[in-house]
Amino acid sequence: MVQTMDLPDLPEQWQASLQWQPTPTQAQQFQALYAAILAANLEVNLTRITSPEEFWEKHLWDSLQGLAPWLREPMASGESLRVVDIGTGGGFPGLPVALVFDHWWVALMDATRKKIAALERMSQRLGIANVSFLPERAEQVGHQPVHREAYDLALLRAVGSANTCAEYALPLVKLGGQAILYRGQWSAEEEARLVGILPRLGGDLLEVRAITTPLTQAARHNVILTKVNPTPDQFPRLPGIPAKSPLG
Ligand code: SAH
Repeated sequence: MVQTMDLPDLPEQWQASLQWQPTPTQAQQFQALYAAILAANLEVNLTRITSPEEFWEKHLWDSLQGLAPWLREPMASGESLRVVDIGTGGGFPGLPVALVFDHWWVALMDATRKKIAALERMSQRLGIANVSFLPERAEQVGHQPVHREAYDLALLRAVGSANTCAEYALPLVKLGGQAILYRGQWSAEEEARLVGILPRLGGDLLEVRAITTPLTQAARHNVILTKVNPTPDQFPRLPGIPAKSPLG
């Protein structure tokens, strides 16, 4: 058994930073998710972020801030998006996204099979039904016809350089869809390097959104890519290559 501390609610911080607040039901689901992650963490190394405030800021708040434009839309009229979280690890950003956007479908992908197995058990126990599980590498999933160009949104946090992430994500995204890269700092050099390779993958840079974390005032940047042309069949390259030799 693990002793679970209570997560803070922090409604003013949600409101001031994202003009959104969780419903009481969602706040309960966040608490249950926190307890489940701490319990699973005893068996599988899912996250080093375990204190209540840190979990709130670095996992819950951060996962959801990347989708700020959708949080501000009234949920009822929202369409049902297909989302893939590439390199989800302990389920971030994918699981908080699945809880809040319960009319979307979220595929949780990770190369480490035992992490995905733990997320599957956890989701079942928590009754999260709008998730699916891909214990595979992005380089392989990107060539599978059922997944290629099948997603409205790809999310990637802490998975590699921006150019590596672009090569993982763009093959999976539908024409007109987006990839959201969750970054900390972001530099003009990184942006130039990314912009230089996007045409080869059928992508374009839509915008870079900057935001500050509400508790520790750390920098976050969301780099938003759009898919404007089909990705050539040669991408993604063989497993390991996009990380070892990023395009550019
Ligand atoms: N997104 C999570 C985890 C980041 S750690 C978070 O922000 O908390 C990076 C994760 O990406 C690891 O779990 C690793 O197994 C996974 N990963 C790395 N390269 C991958 C690839 N090519 N395909 C799928 N998963 C990958």
